[in-house]
Amino acid sequence: MSYLSGLLDDFLSLLFPRLCYACGNHLLRNENLICTECHVLIPRTNYHLEEDNPVARLFWGRCKIEKAAAFSFYNRDSRIRRLIHNLKYRGIKDIGYELGKIYGLDLANSGFTRDIDLIIPVPLHPSKEHVRGFNQSFLICEGISAATGVLVDTKSLERVTKTSTQTRKSRYERWKNVEGTFRVHDPLSLLGKHVLLIDDVITTGSTIESCVEELLKTEGVRVSVASMAVALA
Ligand SMILES: [Zn+2]
Repeated sequence: MSYLSGLLDDFLSLLFPRLCYACGNHLLRNENLICTECHVLIPRTNYHLEEDNPVARLFWGRCKIEKAAAFSFYNRDSRIRRLIHNLKYRGIKDIGYELGKIYGLDLANSGFTRDIDLIIPVPLHPSKEHVRGFNQSFLICEGISAATGVLVDTKSLERVTKTSTQTRKSRYERWKNVEGTFRVHDPLSLLGKHVLLIDDVITTGSTIESCVEELLKTEGVRVSVASMAVALA
């Protein structure tokens, strides 16, 4: 960078400070969206390294999943929570790609995605996606895809009815609420495939469970699951 453009850059950052979306501190010139400190300090679950982990256990006796993992813990005031909040509710779409890329590198390096054929984001209902303007899980998938080389499939699984808000409902009500709301659009495209299903946050697992049940109706399909964060009770 030339001296002049460096000066201009410094001047612009005075007027429009670039702040880390996880901690709010000023970003350095070579940092993008998330500062280096947050990169390092976001606690990793490392569940992708152990077959028997709390996310995998969440689905025991509910639906058949090959492997399950989550990048970080969704705690109150956690960095990952602030990032996902900025992504979903402030529409900072680049955060989705960035987080997906960070996690995708972990997944690729550990061999977690070696036998994965397709990455599928948990679909939003079209009307919700229309209001928000994007599906955050899709943006995360794009980052994971860039890091792993596995293609994203947004066509095969779709959401068919609107679910009312999930808060203040019992686990059974939540499950009933999303039951039967996903549909495989083109079973042929999934025949015999190992799918990695991606959500932004896993809480009760009921949405994932619904997707998995639907996906498993297609012959030879196997499903693994990963999310950017997990909220453990
Ligand atoms: Zn930060």
